[in-house]
Amino acid sequence: MNRKSLRYRITSFFVGFLALALVVFSIAVYLGVRTFLTRSLEQTLANDARNIATDYLAQRNTKGDGWFLGELTEAYPPGLGHQFIRISQGDRVLFDSGNMRDPYVNTSKLPMPSKPAWVNVIHRETAASGQRLMIYTLAYQESGRPQILVESGTTIDSIRHVLRSLFVILLFTIPVILIIASVGGHALMSRLLLPVVVLTDQAERIGRKDMGERLAVIPSGDELERLSLSLNRMIERLEDTLAHNHRFSADASHELRTPLTIIRGQLEELTQRSDLSAVAKDGIGSALEETDRMSRIVESLMTITRLDCGGERIQMIPVDLMAMASTTVEHMHLLADEKNISLVCKEGLPVYVTGDPMRLKQVMVNLLDNAIKYTAAGGAVVVSAMTEGDRAVLRVSDTGIGIPEAAVPFIFDRFYRADKGRSRESGGAGLGLAIVKSICSAHDAVISVKNNDGRGTTMQMDLPLLLPSPSQIKDTQMATERAPGRYLRVADDGPEEKTIQPPKNS
Ligand code: ADP
Repeated sequence: MNRKSLRYRITSFFVGFLALALVVFSIAVYLGVRTFLTRSLEQTLANDARNIATDYLAQRNTKGDGWFLGELTEAYPPGLGHQFIRISQGDRVLFDSGNMRDPYVNTSKLPMPSKPAWVNVIHRETAASGQRLMIYTLAYQESGRPQILVESGTTIDSIRHVLRSLFVILLFTIPVILIIASVGGHALMSRLLLPVVVLTDQAERIGRKDMGERLAVIPSGDELERLSLSLNRMIERLEDTLAHNHRFSADASHELRTPLTIIRGQLEELTQRSDLSAVAKDGIGSALEETDRMSRIVESLMTITRLDCGGERIQMIPVDLMAMASTTVEHMHLLADEKNISLVCKEGLPVYVTGDPMRLKQVMVNLLDNAIKYTAAGGAVVVSAMTEGDRAVLRVSDTGIGIPEAAVPFIFDRFYRADKGRSRESGGAGLGLAIVKSICSAHDAVISVKNNDGRGTTMQMDLPLLLPSPSQIKDTQMATERAPGRYLRVADDGPEEKTIQPPKNS
């Protein structure tokens, strides 16, 4: 679970808040129930004492002690009840209901109500058997006679019992409520945030491929609708700016093409003249070189612009990257040999992708050209193509000068050169990798760079793998251009491994 996700944070906050509310609520319920039960019991004890005074004590003088004790014994049988009743006059006990039975409480050692502070109020005592009792003492006074005290008491066990049960119920229900709330909250948040996930995916796709697409606006009238509308407006502005930039690059390179061709033609004509001094010939020669360089830059810029704004038609047919890598290496051997660099292509099974063979070849040429350009004599360049999961991977590794870490994020930018002086000497304008990146974007491919642990650089392009059908293979232009090695031939009756031997004279 991602602890930083909005879903996790909102659910945690909600559950934490609910937990706090439940604890406060439980404490309030517990205290409320305790106060209510205590008050009710106090009320019952006071009523019992008052009833004894009015029903029995008031008639004791007229009906006699025998009637009085008989009635009380019947109402509160000694040793049988769950209530303690004691009637006393000074130190003389007139009636005592004795020990309580249910639950058993030994009331024999309860002190006589001597303190005046106890009269007409509730006080608490501890019985000889350990229980806590609540006792109400009522003072009954008849004119000219000594005061009689009526005690009515009971254990507070029943209240404790109810409170304990309530505590247990609260203790177990709070976690259950919290679990239900977190599961429900998480599910609810997932549902509510689903449009955000969809928006994120769409925005990601728009940025990467097609700026013409727009986010789907859900007319919910809420913040998400406003967000998607604002994002769409922002994408529109970005698209306008990009289109303007592309138009400018396309127009500029197009406009430069003709004058460059004219300059080139005229310079070439001039070189044919016999009356030119050696100095003038030299000057015209270097002007021609610079014109060629400018033409290459203009061509590269046009290619990038066309690829980026979709003006270039990209052919999408099955291509075997392995075979293509192998033939490209063959074609570029001379360049590597000139610099005494070993250039090899690792053998492997065919790796099929869908793409434009010409453009993919251009990627390989540009990567290999850089690898050879930035590797000193005696170094090595290794090319490999393979499948990794559902991706096709092409790697070009060299043992060259490597790329400074600080330059890595910029090398795919137009006109960026890590070492300006050296690149210019070798004829680079900093557009080779920008073209590679544009071709990769058009193919849904990812290009990445890694400095090798020892020395040199590895450029990696990975793109969606195509699992070809036999009929597609027949159309594959590159499938026929195979270098010697082991291949997986896809025949009509299924795949079959095949070895192609090198030509006899090689
Ligand atoms: P350039 O035409 O200057 O080679 P690129 O766009 O092809 O332009 O490359 C941009 C920069 O990235 C180069 O100037 C170079 O500094 C660096 N670079 C590219 N490939 C390599 C490599 N294989 N080894 C070292 N540096 C490289």
